Amino acid sequence: SKPVYAFEEADSKNRMLLGGKGAGLSEMTRLKLPVPPGFTITTEVCNKYYDNNKKLPKDVMPAVMKNIAKMEKKTGKKWNSTKNPLLVSVRSGAAISMPGMMDTILNLGLNEKTVEGFAEQTKNPRFSWDSYRRFIQLFGKVVFGVNDEKFEHVLDSAKSKQGVSDDSKLNVESLKTIVTEYKKICEEHTKRKFPDTPNEQLVLSIEAVFKSWMGERAIVYREKNNITKDIANGTAVNVVTMVFGNMGDDSATGVVFTRNGHNGKKEMEGEYLINAQGEDVVAGVRTGLSIELLKKDMPKSHKELSNACAKLEKHFREPQDIEFTIEQGKFYLLQTRTAKMSAAALVKTSVDMVKEKLISKERALTRIPAQQLEALLHRTMDESEIKNYKLLAKGIPASPGAASGIVVFDVKKAIELGDTGNKVILVRKETKPEDVPAFFSSEGILTSLGGKSSHAAIVSRGMGKPCIVGCPELKINYDNNTCTANGITIKERETITIDGSAGTVYIGDIPTVEPKVTKDFEQILEWAQKTKTLGIRANADTPEGAILARKFGGQGIGLCRTERMFNGSDRINLFVEMIMAENIEERSKILTKLGQLQKSDFIEILKAMEGYEVTIRLLDPPLHEFLPNPEELVEKIQKLESSGDTNEINKTKIILKRARELAEINPMMGHRGVRVGITYPEIYEMQIKAVFEALVELTKKKVKAHPQIMIPQISSIAELNHIKKIYDRIKKDTETKHKMKLKINFGTMIEVVRAALTANELATTAEFFSFGTNDLTQGTFSFSREDVEGKFLPEYMEKELLERNPFQSIDVNGVGSLIKIGLAAGRKLRSNMEVGICGEHGGDPSSIKFCHGAGLTYVSASPHRIPIAIVAAAQAAI
Ligand code: PEP
Ligand code: MG
Repeated sequence: SKPVYAFEEADSKNRMLLGGKGAGLSEMTRLKLPVPPGFTITTEVCNKYYDNNKKLPKDVMPAVMKNIAKMEKKTGKKWNSTKNPLLVSVRSGAAISMPGMMDTILNLGLNEKTVEGFAEQTKNPRFSWDSYRRFIQLFGKVVFGVNDEKFEHVLDSAKSKQGVSDDSKLNVESLKTIVTEYKKICEEHTKRKFPDTPNEQLVLSIEAVFKSWMGERAIVYREKNNITKDIANGTAVNVVTMVFGNMGDDSATGVVFTRNGHNGKKEMEGEYLINAQGEDVVAGVRTGLSIELLKKDMPKSHKELSNACAKLEKHFREPQDIEFTIEQGKFYLLQTRTAKMSAAALVKTSVDMVKEKLISKERALTRIPAQQLEALLHRTMDESEIKNYKLLAKGIPASPGAASGIVVFDVKKAIELGDTGNKVILVRKETKPEDVPAFFSSEGILTSLGGKSSHAAIVSRGMGKPCIVGCPELKINYDNNTCTANGITIKERETITIDGSAGTVYIGDIPTVEPKVTKDFEQILEWAQKTKTLGIRANADTPEGAILARKFGGQGIGLCRTERMFNGSDRINLFVEMIMAENIEERSKILTKLGQLQKSDFIEILKAMEGYEVTIRLLDPPLHEFLPNPEELVEKIQKLESSGDTNEINKTKIILKRARELAEINPMMGHRGVRVGITYPEIYEMQIKAVFEALVELTKKKVKAHPQIMIPQISSIAELNHIKKIYDRIKKDTETKHKMKLKINFGTMIEVVRAALTANELATTAEFFSFGTNDLTQGTFSFSREDVEGKFLPEYMEKELLERNPFQSIDVNGVGSLIKIGLAAGRKLRSNMEVGICGEHGGDPSSIKFCHGAGLTYVSASPHRIPIAIVAAAQAAI
């Protein structure tokens, strides 16, 4: 392609080549909107410049000069003229906007001679000399890398010499002196004469913009924002006729959104400044006036602006973010791009634009980044208040939402304080199942260890409670009940506020704002429901979770983790007693009681999900997780020994013995899941029986319950068949006892690599599959799901050894292949087999896209992520 395109020669189709700014300016020119004449040097030239050892290819400057000639014709001004000089700005512009990351030069074309011509043209010598000094300052900084402070210093002494405090009061004499001084600074810095011809200035400026693409600021920005070469490859350079918003009180400059970027209302939103240059608005040097005031200040320009907004929106079918300048009453557009909006504004504008027949329903759905909807479903910190509070620490955002409360480190105390009306933030190094009762009593959870799929993270998400994990800078001291970060120590009962969406911990009580599901949001969800084909189920283990999931549009439960049900304060002790039982008789007695409790839980959940499948997974974690850890017990015994309570000491010693018996070096690959079910069959028997009994009761009441039983950690068909025999026996017994036929699907999780590879065998018994992508990811990478995020994973991401956190977004090449193998094997034997996923990936939009493409039946996500999953599934289907 050509190295240079005049605005009138191009359009907005090729952003990769022209960059966002160039594409926008070209398209606006085509639409006959008032854009100052100019041209774009392509991103391809930028890449050639680097390939060519930082030299401009030979054909570039001749093409540039041809286009300068075209600008002369259109403006009636002359390049390098001493009477009526053409001045230009040189602006960067990559395919993706990188605000403030690259360089811009203004007022180019001025030198000792043309400055006089400019004074004549504007009839304003003060203004033209001020423009000239601004040019040298910007040029010196950008092209030569002169420290801006040196210029500021000269400016300050000129002001004090003349006895004025404001730049705008400097007279021509002072400005001329400043120009001389500025040039001297540049010449000392470069050891060469200041380039005086506009041609020379232009070449150096173009090169400087290309150089800024590889400037440190820009590189870091691209890294942080994941801007890879396929999204933006090099910057373009835009050379635009200068227009001046600082030519007096009939001039102005501003930025405006065509619709409100916060709430989406159909009204212009933005700011302008009278008698100012564009950079003044962007840099926030002066406080802008609200755009409505322009109607009174400059009614004609206001009208032109609102007409332009309407035209651009209609053309781009997307709210725009616009820059404009008014030069002595004449209105110009300098930029347009898609407006970046809040989630609420995206939702409202989507619905409105469909009503206005501007966009289709499909477009309304796809233009909303599903992940962003998260912000609408949770309490958030009051944005305007945050600046008044001090940041204590930053961790991994594990469960979204904001919450304030008093810091409590001890689990029992958290329950006590929480249940007596205090707002509590539970702060722990890590959490275990036995700590879950405290989750119910707390507003939010903060742990210094762990990652996104650690216990605290998963449990909090399931409950919809804000949670931050993996915050190693936070040092927790259980002995004196304090935590310390960044040199600040927080004592028990001091108040903090956590934001589980950002991972930030603040000191004090920051006001939070309640989420509300608006009519517009409901409309979006309704469209998405009708569009998607993938099923969306919930990971829920309480009736409340099931009700919430259903309210959000969930169609069934893909994972009910039964171990969670043992965590209620009325049963955790019973469960511990069961583990401590010395023989099977004793254990069976306790299990009967636990069975009653489980049955009533199942009944409630099945009722809440009437008409939909509820997949109940039998006990999964290793038993020792329900006991305190041995170190804590040893400490407890030491403390007790000083008080001499022998009874309590002996009791604790017995627990310690059992805890040691059960302890494992690698519990995640240890005695858990089906392995517990095989070695303690009475536990699984109790659970299976409770499901059947619940079904009997509900069937008698004519409730349409569809429980399914799912076995975790299966690695072989032998294991599955072993449990299936128990299931068959209980099924038969229950059917005989109640004289009714009962149907409960029997299936397996696939979360062990071997299970995926032998899915053809498993499918002979399993009626459904559910991929446990948390454990499957752990097994596939041999990365500990509890540890990686706090250890080497961040460095892996930084060094680009991993593109994404595989515990968050499915690793398509590895884990994804296993899913495809398992799915194909299952469907080969049972063509309509229900196959879903129930790991944390079920709520992640890019994983959902994969699942839709692979042909899974459903994804299962925590209740609060269901709306996101529904929209993501619709997007995948479009
Ligand atoms: C999984 O491993 O993906 C899963 C859903 O089970 P859990 O997270 O309970 O181990
Ligand atoms: Mg698992």
